[in-house]
Amino acid sequence: MALNIYLGDLVYNTIKTNYVVPLNIGYVASFLKGKFGQEVNIKLFKYPDILEKALRENPPDILALSHYSWNARLNLLFLEMAKRLNPKILTVMGGPNIRTESVDLKKFLTNHKNLDYHVANEGEEPFARIVGEILGGCARPHPLGCATIIDGEFFYDAEPLEKRSMEISQPSPYLTGWLDPFLADSNTIPLLETNRGCPYRCVYCAWGAMLPRIRTRPLEQVLEEIKYVSDKSAGQLTWMFCDSNFGILPRDVEIAKKVRELVDKKGYPTHVDVWQSKNTPERNIEISEILGKNNRGLVAIQSADPKVLDNIGRGAIKMDSIKQQIDYYHNENLEVGTDILIGLPGESAKSHYNTLAAAFDMGFDYLEPINIRLLQGTRYESDKFRQEYAVKTKYRPIFGAYGIYDNKVVFEVEESVRSTKDMSEEELNNFKIHHWLIFFTWDVGIFKPILLLGKKQGINPEVIIDELSRTQNPILKDLFDRMRKESMKEWFGTEEEMISFYKQPENFNNLVNNFMKLSFFYIALVYQDPEILKALQKEMEAIVTEKLKAKNIFSQNVMNDVIELSGLLTCKNLLEGEKKVTMKYPGEIVSLVTNNPKFANRDIVELEIYRPQEFVSFCRFHLSPSGKENLSLKNIARFLEIGGMNVLKNNIKVL
Ligand code: SF4
Repeated sequence: MALNIYLGDLVYNTIKTNYVVPLNIGYVASFLKGKFGQEVNIKLFKYPDILEKALRENPPDILALSHYSWNARLNLLFLEMAKRLNPKILTVMGGPNIRTESVDLKKFLTNHKNLDYHVANEGEEPFARIVGEILGGCARPHPLGCATIIDGEFFYDAEPLEKRSMEISQPSPYLTGWLDPFLADSNTIPLLETNRGCPYRCVYCAWGAMLPRIRTRPLEQVLEEIKYVSDKSAGQLTWMFCDSNFGILPRDVEIAKKVRELVDKKGYPTHVDVWQSKNTPERNIEISEILGKNNRGLVAIQSADPKVLDNIGRGAIKMDSIKQQIDYYHNENLEVGTDILIGLPGESAKSHYNTLAAAFDMGFDYLEPINIRLLQGTRYESDKFRQEYAVKTKYRPIFGAYGIYDNKVVFEVEESVRSTKDMSEEELNNFKIHHWLIFFTWDVGIFKPILLLGKKQGINPEVIIDELSRTQNPILKDLFDRMRKESMKEWFGTEEEMISFYKQPENFNNLVNNFMKLSFFYIALVYQDPEILKALQKEMEAIVTEKLKAKNIFSQNVMNDVIELSGLLTCKNLLEGEKKVTMKYPGEIVSLVTNNPKFANRDIVELEIYRPQEFVSFCRFHLSPSGKENLSLKNIARFLEIGGMNVLKNNIKVL
């Protein structure tokens, strides 16, 4: 009789969002089927409720689940359920969310008695060894690359990965049809993988630590997969390449060309997300040109401090190549953004401030500063690093990762850096205001023309934002104090504290129904109270005016034009109707606001500022459903989260 195997790459489906095609378990399925044929029956699962039903109706012989920070506790719940329904089921987990030393694997298995095996690194071959030995008659094998405890004895022989060939030769999960149902699900984003591994070793990431060299998949297979995905997908507008460094190999240009060919034929995907290679600017630029102008650039710097970059293993990434890429996007009239981490080893408040300022100087159009989540299996999460940098962490729920399955509440826990020997928690928390102001005024662009006016005259936006964050204006001071306090309150000192808090039914219901990301919550608050929006504009104007006056380059006329234009570009009433105004401004103002130097020398440029019908419809659909206005904080915050940020500004057109 064939061995029944369920493979799950679970994601909480309590809140509807975009999921990704379960490519990882697709690889395992196609590999097992290729090896064992009729001897195995395999089913793939993405959604926990469907797996729960299948476990109850027809429990398998083996349940194997992918293991990430966003599904770790959900997996444990399913392992417990599986063992309860059929104690003979063998349970397996595989994935990066675990420390990989023997002592740690043993501890993990000892603490989680419902787990029989943890498979390390690339999982296909070790998992196939378990299956092969079971098919051969061994009830509890302990093959190479698989950690397990049998009758109290721990077994784990790490597999030397350098022995694996540089070419991955395995059947394709797409071409063998395993992923067809997921491609047909419009909620899942197609994932493509052309190679595995990463030559860098950033301390907060498990990718480079797991596989520090690049193993490639055959080009022909990759090109065929792209065609297959295009044919079988539900027309998803976004695709994602999950390579750690797309563009690192010359052949990636050919891969991008294949995607382009299909986009031109079918009109989708309109967005292709890639993590660009770090030191190949020319090729990255070529690939961006091929993939099309719909792609906004992302060049992650994380820090601009050379010492910090060395500490985190990114010292080899060249700043020149970053500059070259930013220039390319700007020459093409495209925006480019960056990721910045706060809480890195060696990063102080001063150097983080300098990093933000450097990112503005480099010309990034949007900055995304992020708290560092400590991931199991990374070097930053190790005891050694924690001690060396006196890392203190706290815990909070992962947004969207909660639900009720098997009649039990379950949620995920994020462990994040809250202080190091170089940055106190108070300093780190104070940057919450900077980061929010950057998000609202620079990334979203509310009153951005005022910051641009300052920047043009040599005043870095971070200097303005820093001063703004320390304002004595009572309305803004209240807002920022509240932000500081509430952003401290969302953290728990220990994992146990957080778990016991959210296990309480009232708190769990609150989490599911009322949990909002603070950045959206505070923008919602600003939109509920026009006085805050007014105060923000006045304060920014006052700061920039004072600084320009100190340099003897202040012009009231220029400031008036900037303020007027900035006001016209900002939607202040979310339920306002379609509108169109035509205005004339000096070329230097238009050049500033459109970031286009070609208008700078014109005396007057005519502009149209308009609010298109689709913006109006989007706002009314979410904020005034069936004609009944709902401008509650919660509803505005949800609206912002699901795309409302894109309609807060009106459009501008040069006539
Ligand atoms: S963060 Fe990116 S470059 Fe660094 S190790 Fe991870 S995948 Fe590689």
